[in-house]
Amino acid sequence: MNRIKRIAVFTSGGDAPGMNAAVRAVVRTALNYNLEVYGINRGYMGMISGEFIKLTSKSVRGIIHRGGTILRTARSEEFRTKEGRKKANDNLVKYKIDAVVVIGGDGSFMGAGIFSQEYNIPFVGIPGTIDNDMFGTDYTIGFDTALNTVTEAIDKIKDTALSHDRTFFIEVMGRDAGFIALKAGIATGAEMVLIPEISGQEEKLKQVLSNPEKKSNIIIVAEGNKMGGAEEVAKKYGKKYKTRGVRVNVLGHMQRGGSPTAFDRYLASRMGVEAVDALMDNLRSIMIGYENHKVVHISFNKTNKNKRGIGEELLRVNEILAK
Ligand code: ATP
Repeated sequence: MNRIKRIAVFTSGGDAPGMNAAVRAVVRTALNYNLEVYGINRGYMGMISGEFIKLTSKSVRGIIHRGGTILRTARSEEFRTKEGRKKANDNLVKYKIDAVVVIGGDGSFMGAGIFSQEYNIPFVGIPGTIDNDMFGTDYTIGFDTALNTVTEAIDKIKDTALSHDRTFFIEVMGRDAGFIALKAGIATGAEMVLIPEISGQEEKLKQVLSNPEKKSNIIIVAEGNKMGGAEEVAKKYGKKYKTRGVRVNVLGHMQRGGSPTAFDRYLASRMGVEAVDALMDNLRSIMIGYENHKVVHISFNKTNKNKRGIGEELLRVNEILAK
């Protein structure tokens, strides 16, 4: 017998395009099971301060195409403490919440796993982060949109790079993972990508910068790259390769915003439905993933303990094509 009557949903960590589509899917699926749904504003911070709002089908109307998150998001140091988590639990009890859906990154799931054990309340996670760095899913919500945003921006920069024979170091997000950089590199035909997963790229970079046949270059630098960010790398090599007309572009937070792509809306919708289905099947402490075009379940334990590899195949494709 399932005793769940009321669930809560919240977004946590960095915002990602498609989070709204996930919230919408969770709310509508819960209503389909005749459950009541509460949204918690500002992630764990709002769970602690009691920012709960009742959500209806109408509350999630007209949001599927909007970036950001209507529930807003935050990081909470207080939730890392036992006292903070006690306050959060007091609010869940006050609002009679039986189960929770958390939309966020691995940190959010780590917190959910700890909390769920302490207070015996089921949590299911939906991976929402543009970085695509989570173990157990081929895609996280927001990655596809960010990749398309980055691709569009680099295409534009490439026009000017080609016209002026310039070398652009373009920094993209991804924290300590290079998924955005590598896939954007393949999609834009960049001459080189500098990503944290590969070390010892200095020699190759020198070759690219001294290639007499190529006067313009696009070099994508992942923010977590070990040689430093785009500014740092450009500073180091710009003087030596003066004739290359080195320029720097840090794409920044524009990568996190904007209307989600059709794929991200689809992914978020499927994951949202599956998250509530899983709770109704009495599952807990799992993340909903998407592997080989199928929705799958992975325990928080596995997602938190394992690191997702960049994939030899992608590296090879990039290596062959970036000449
Ligand atoms: P993103 O990938 O966008 O950064 P994230 O979910 O990984 O998202 P974090 O800042 O790592 O973002 O985590 C979000 C929140 O989860 C933290 O602010 C904190 O409240 C909670 N959290 C993370 N790790 C723990 C932990 N070990 N114990 C308790 N709470 C945690």
